Amino acid sequence: MSYCVNCGVELHETCSVCPLCHTEVHNPRHPADENAPKPFPVRQGAVAPVQKADVLILISVVLAVTAGVCGLLNLLIFYGTYWSLYVIGGCVLLWVFCLPMFLPKISPYVSILLDGGGIAMYFGIIAWLHPGRGWYPDLAVPLTVLATGLILLFAVCVRQIHASILSCAALLLAETAVYTIAVELLIDRFRQTPPGLTWSAIVLTCCVIIDAALITILRHSRLREEVRRRMHI
Ligand SMILES: [Zn+2]
Repeated sequence: MSYCVNCGVELHETCSVCPLCHTEVHNPRHPADENAPKPFPVRQGAVAPVQKADVLILISVVLAVTAGVCGLLNLLIFYGTYWSLYVIGGCVLLWVFCLPMFLPKISPYVSILLDGGGIAMYFGIIAWLHPGRGWYPDLAVPLTVLATGLILLFAVCVRQIHASILSCAALLLAETAVYTIAVELLIDRFRQTPPGLTWSAIVLTCCVIIDAALITILRHSRLREEVRRRMHI
């Protein structure tokens, strides 16, 4: 029995090189017999990778069964309210969210639109189950449409214009300010109070300050290169 002179690991009689630290093995009393059967597989095995389509089928089946079983339970046993619509809508929404992970050929813009449509659909289910004072058309729909549009705009900047990280950060802050203002104004309209900026003005101020700094950095090449060098971006 030989032991590696470098790391001390026990060596099989077939080893001419330590399998752990790759130090050559020299044992005059027991020279390596490379023709003897190896104690481990000599060829690396490979397991076929899971196909994304198979995972999508699995997720689709699990979600469809969950939605179907809850629907049946709602119809046959726990009836009285349409509670299963929450589960069914959630399953549809999850499936829509999962699509781009398993269908890489799907356009990201189509995917964003589908996500926005799915969220609007789920809000629609809640609104149908709990009809209120028109919160769905006055708040949920415009905020969902605006969020989808802003995300689409961000995706276009990243994918088509190949904007830098600093430019994307500036755009993201500007979109955050716009969305916050829209939320406050829509809430004012929904509550039938005079429109005005209060809490959203604080967010707007922060975004304007940071955006001003980012735009200054972007417009001055020396500043821009220094930031990129220090932040590795
Ligand atoms: Zn060794």
